[in-house]
Amino acid sequence: MKKLLKGIAVAAAAALTIAALAGCGAKKDEAKTDAPAAEAPKTEKSDAIVFGTNAEFPPFEFISAKGGVIGEFDGIDMAIAKQIAEDCGKTAEINNMEFDSLLVALQNGQIDAVIAGMTVTDERKETVDFSTPYYTATQVMIVKSDSDIAKATDMADKNIAVIQGYTGEISVQGMGYSYQSFKKGTDAIMELVNGKADVVVIDKATAQKYVNDNENLKVVEDSEAFEKEEYAIAVAKGNTELLDKINSAIEKMLADGTVNELAAQYAVTAEE
Ligand code: GLN
Repeated sequence: MKKLLKGIAVAAAAALTIAALAGCGAKKDEAKTDAPAAEAPKTEKSDAIVFGTNAEFPPFEFISAKGGVIGEFDGIDMAIAKQIAEDCGKTAEINNMEFDSLLVALQNGQIDAVIAGMTVTDERKETVDFSTPYYTATQVMIVKSDSDIAKATDMADKNIAVIQGYTGEISVQGMGYSYQSFKKGTDAIMELVNGKADVVVIDKATAQKYVNDNENLKVVEDSEAFEKEEYAIAVAKGNTELLDKINSAIEKMLADGTVNELAAQYAVTAEE
């Protein structure tokens, strides 16, 4: 965290210089050559990078009653978004919406970028462009502590719960099993806790959070069945101006250990 703060301080100090370079806020920034420093009041869209997210995915994005790094929004992705915006001499604005709506909102120009623990997939790459990946993840199974599910094939005759549009749903589809899909991770977990579902397939770090927060649940991994996934930030196809800025900010945060520190701070470990 110290490094992040230092990074933010450095970024803030450098904000005027950086902001004088080509605009970070992509198309909305065209007319502005004298972009303001990071602390400038957010009076118009061009002073902000608008990130779309789905704040139902702890520890990457969630709403914190105590307040988060960007307004009420907290988590690893939120800290990364804030740093990217500051590197651009802008503020980060969050547009919270359903996960399924994020890529459409990006294509419509309603948001500048998506940061949502979003896995890079070939299908998504057809509609949007992805940044340098910043986190390696995998799907896991959450089951009751006394469950006999030990590997993915054990799910064959079980009630499987997934979250709509997540890569967990795509994985289970690929295995050919039937499943029920839910709008939110917490809804799927509720189904498991109530005994209506036997297993929830979801990203590992989020699974660990749910297991910590609920009694009598455990995480079951099957690295042969679930492939590694990479999280990246999405921008509209062809928005290379913003993508370049995002990439340089991410690469800096990967190189100086900021991403690792955030992962530790929010208590997750990236896959080796
Ligand atoms: N990584 C998963 C995906 O991309 C889940 C992301 C999320 O729920 N925010 O589908």
